[in-house]
Amino acid sequence: MIKRTETFIFLIITITVCVLFFFNYFEPLEVKTQDFRFKRNINQSVSKDVVLVTINEDDEKNYGPWPFKRSVHARLVDYLKDAGAAVIGFDIIFSLNSEDASDDETFTRAIRSAGNVILANRIVHSERIIDTKTFHREEALEAPMEGFRSAALGTGFVNVDFENLNPDGVIRNVEFLKEINGTIEASLALKTAVELMKYKTGRSFGIESDAGNITAGYTRIPIFNYYTLGRSGVKKSAAYMVKFNGNSTTGLFPAYSYTDIFNSTEKELPKSVFKGKAVIVGAQSQLLPDIKLSPLGTIPGMEINAQIVDNIVSEDFVIRPARSISAVIVILLGVLIFYFLIRNEPAFIDIAYLAFFVALVLGTTYLLYSNFMILFEIVTPLAEILILFIATRFYQLFIKLYFTNIDLKISNRKLEQKVAELSALYGISKTITTITDMKALFKIILEKTIDIVNAGNGFIMMADEEDGTFKNRIALEGDETPRKDFEPLYAEVLKNKKSVIYNLGGGRDEKIKLLFAANPDLRSIMAIPLTTYKGDLAGVIILANKKDGDIFSENDIQLTSVIATQAGFAIENATLYQLAVFDSLTSLYVRRYFLGVAVKEFKRIRRYGGSLSLLMTDIDHFKKFNDTYGHQIGDLVLKSVAGVVRKSVRETDIAARYGGEEFIMLLPETDSAGALIFAERLRKSIETSVFESERGALKVTISIGASSFVVDRLNKNNAAQYKDMDEMIKCADIALYNSKEAGRNATTIYTAGMKSKVS
Ligand code: GH3
Ligand code: MG
Ligand code: MG
Repeated sequence: MIKRTETFIFLIITITVCVLFFFNYFEPLEVKTQDFRFKRNINQSVSKDVVLVTINEDDEKNYGPWPFKRSVHARLVDYLKDAGAAVIGFDIIFSLNSEDASDDETFTRAIRSAGNVILANRIVHSERIIDTKTFHREEALEAPMEGFRSAALGTGFVNVDFENLNPDGVIRNVEFLKEINGTIEASLALKTAVELMKYKTGRSFGIESDAGNITAGYTRIPIFNYYTLGRSGVKKSAAYMVKFNGNSTTGLFPAYSYTDIFNSTEKELPKSVFKGKAVIVGAQSQLLPDIKLSPLGTIPGMEINAQIVDNIVSEDFVIRPARSISAVIVILLGVLIFYFLIRNEPAFIDIAYLAFFVALVLGTTYLLYSNFMILFEIVTPLAEILILFIATRFYQLFIKLYFTNIDLKISNRKLEQKVAELSALYGISKTITTITDMKALFKIILEKTIDIVNAGNGFIMMADEEDGTFKNRIALEGDETPRKDFEPLYAEVLKNKKSVIYNLGGGRDEKIKLLFAANPDLRSIMAIPLTTYKGDLAGVIILANKKDGDIFSENDIQLTSVIATQAGFAIENATLYQLAVFDSLTSLYVRRYFLGVAVKEFKRIRRYGGSLSLLMTDIDHFKKFNDTYGHQIGDLVLKSVAGVVRKSVRETDIAARYGGEEFIMLLPETDSAGALIFAERLRKSIETSVFESERGALKVTISIGASSFVVDRLNKNNAAQYKDMDEMIKCADIALYNSKEAGRNATTIYTAGMKSKVS
């Protein structure tokens, strides 16, 4: 996958580098590496074609002062003609007539006689003022004086364009042809070279220029086009790049001074040295200001011309790919690096890769240059590699940090959420442990579980203690009939005692698949076991479909497992509490619990005022009943009577099993009149109840005794007639005894002095 921003970075950098390169902006850096390559490749063999005649300090002493008399030059020309030089190029401008006309005559004659002398001229620029605002830039030739020119084989310019082609002052690029005032002028070096080629081949040809290419005979001279983007727009320049193989000091060119030539015997300096050679004559003297900068250091200007002649004649050129080709290579290299960069994350190994790419460029250019003389740029691709590397990697690191930061923020938020969930759990567990009504407890467990995992729906199936089946369904609202279709799920939870999640389709399990098929709205279900701390399964929570449309996850299992554990403790507590508080046969409170509550209530009413009644009931002739129908039926009836009692009392009343078939009831805020009404209603309701059994419809009656008291809220001194709850119970028992005595199936309210049992 291609990353968008990296691509953008790549495009921007590559295009920028290419444009800068194309318009020569890398040249000032590039030439340094080119110079280095020239220096490393100095050709040690002696030039086969060029010999130098250099005017040095000795010559100045012997023939000077400068300018020499022209007869001295004439003598050299005569000498070289005699030696059989192929062509003589003078890198000296003879533009003015000398005072002695015969001196000029002598030189003219010598030139004409040799017939192969090429003289230097120079293009000079001048600015002519046309009016106050307009300057006219003019080019003119500073040419040899007319006599010399007509005698010479030709002339050639020796200018070097520093401004456009060699801005740092080091001569690397030269021009060969220049249009001056309508005529094309060739350079001294080119002309000299061409004359030598003619001499060597015996053929006659001229210099041809076509679309910037220069051809001389069979030799095609590579011309390199430059584009520079200046203030006045794009400017195109064409130049030949001199291939510097060396100079006279490195031994490339044999060099002799006038003194050497004129004062040596044939044995010391054989004339054959000059035979068939191009002889370049020029000043090497420190006194003559013709010292030029070259990639090899400072050299006399004439040696640059000598180098050029040698290049052309031996067809030893520097080959430079066209700027557009180099630009394409830069782009290709950029693409390569780009692909490498987007496929890897920033790492230490990058240094090695970077080194590899740099070595690739350096090695390739080195091989191309040393074996094929192809001068590829180094700086541009290296700059591109570095900039692309740094920019892309920095960007990637930045992005990585950015995303790490986001990750941190997210995990922070998750932690906050966890803390919130935990505090919710704490709240839940607090609520749960105080609830004793099992059903209410299960409802709260369900409600909180649904809440915390954001489930859409859910219910609890309570496990039957006895047979481990699931019969009672607890839902938050509405239908509470058990869901048979979920049975495979209960079964699985029962077996593994572990939470399970099933998502749309149901996975591999055939039965679960059927469950999903039967409930098209189901997307995700989670089943959580509710186990007591002993490990018994108390129930299964079934949750369906998350509200946000998501599916249940491992995270939900973890969250609910905490609830399930808490719930297990709560269920256990509730069970123990129920066992301790409720009588197992009648489901009424046990005597101990009743007494605890009653004592508190007694004290409260005595202190704050109000009324309180206490009822005691006893089934009539129950011994006989048992004897007649058996204990089991007796128990059944006892349970049914208790059921009637439970239904009869108000929510604030407390009914308990006091003894075998005796019940006791505490009626707060009820005086004796109210107690009588209630007792009578209860008595009658038992009397009229028919209890179905295997022995047919059965009936029983009960006797009731009650004790009551009232404490005035304002005048508490009238107090209760009872010392404590014990006494109040005792009195209710006396009243009950009186009901029995009165013939049973009756109610008696205790009054002071009532006849008590004689024990
Ligand atoms: P009375 O009318 O005088 O109350 O006669 P009674 O036979 O009911 O006498 P009493 O209350 O003294 O007798 C208690 C009898 O109640 C004894 C026992 O047979 C029966 N009983 C007590 N507890 C249970 C019980 O839990 N189950 C059964 N089936 N019978 C019980
Ligand atoms: Mg009894
Ligand atoms: Mg009885």
